[in-house]
Amino acid sequence: MIRKVFYTFLALLGGLTAVPALANIVHLNQLSLADSGQRATARLALTGFTRARYFHLSHPDREVVDLLGTRAGAGLRLPHGRGWVRAVRMGLQPNGALRLVFTTSAASHLQLVWLRGRGTGRELLLEMRRTGASVAANARPLPVATRLAPADDGRDIIITVDPGHGGIDPGTIGRYGTEEKNVTLAIGRLLARRIDRQRGMRATMTRDSDVYLTLRERMRVARRDHADLFVSIHVNDVGDPYIKGAQVYILSLHGASNEAARILADRENAVDQLAGVKLRGKSHTLATVLLNLSQTTTIAHSMVAARDVLHALDGSVPVNRQNVQQAAFVVLKSPTIPSMLVETDYMSDPTEELKLRQPWYQKRIADAIFQGVLGYFRQHPPAGTLFAEQRAARLRTLVARTVH
Ligand SMILES: [Zn+2]
Repeated sequence: MIRKVFYTFLALLGGLTAVPALANIVHLNQLSLADSGQRATARLALTGFTRARYFHLSHPDREVVDLLGTRAGAGLRLPHGRGWVRAVRMGLQPNGALRLVFTTSAASHLQLVWLRGRGTGRELLLEMRRTGASVAANARPLPVATRLAPADDGRDIIITVDPGHGGIDPGTIGRYGTEEKNVTLAIGRLLARRIDRQRGMRATMTRDSDVYLTLRERMRVARRDHADLFVSIHVNDVGDPYIKGAQVYILSLHGASNEAARILADRENAVDQLAGVKLRGKSHTLATVLLNLSQTTTIAHSMVAARDVLHALDGSVPVNRQNVQQAAFVVLKSPTIPSMLVETDYMSDPTEELKLRQPWYQKRIADAIFQGVLGYFRQHPPAGTLFAEQRAARLRTLVARTVH
């Protein structure tokens, strides 16, 4: 869930107290603005992560974002206003925060999403969703007042897409030299793009290039982005060249649902040993019990979502097993984020290997996964999301029709 930090007017007057040490100064090197009617997105390229605070001002409507311990990089050019975002201004606050002010012609709702940037850099997305009617540009400004924006209303559902393997870890390699890491990245990108086209949904990716990430790092991305769902994409491999089809896995706390699932989990988990990463962490017994409790609920959600995805896949690609499988995949162990792992097909079948290289087939898989995810969230929207509002509206209509 996207957490929001709002200032009260008093806090605003008092200003921020924390002034980061000079050594930790982050630079804002780029700021671009795009708008698509109801939505505007400002994309900020920063040299690192920093704390961001934001609030809304009205009369005229403004979204204000303070980036702590941040300076404008040399050569930073502010974009002109576009669409209903009329102007972008910037200024350094006495407390060392870099303040960005987006003046809008309508009330809006702001969300912040941190993404990984180049190298150690970070990208900050400021998504402004228009919520009110346009106000004339020459409307008389009233005394400045702040209001607490409604909490989390109509926010986007966030799905973290995890293309399996990458970098030094190619994953499974087919007879024709196709590497799993490239197939999973291609499908993952298509899936993320499809999700981003859906109103009320947004994708983040654990990797968008040929880099190695540990399984824990992949889970961390989902947690950092406050994901509502985590989808890991893989390609299976088995000795038999005639086995084909997709499978969907979720985490099991009580052993694998079958021997093949156990072997597969062992192999997908083994990638971290490649880079010499120690997987074992010491866990306190009580902590383990508590973790298992929340994990059990998460697994239940994962199961429902995974069934929807498997069902959607079944309509468009060969499916190997009709049931969602369970195994102890490390990457699925987020205690609070429903997670699934899609084995899209078998690399060991040479005809499937050749298909997996084809953009049309990659797109077919990505579209099917998307349809499953969409179906799941239409029925089970997290509270506070646009999907939840839409579902409530559908139910109200249904009830109204039944009554009259
Ligand atoms: Zn894999």
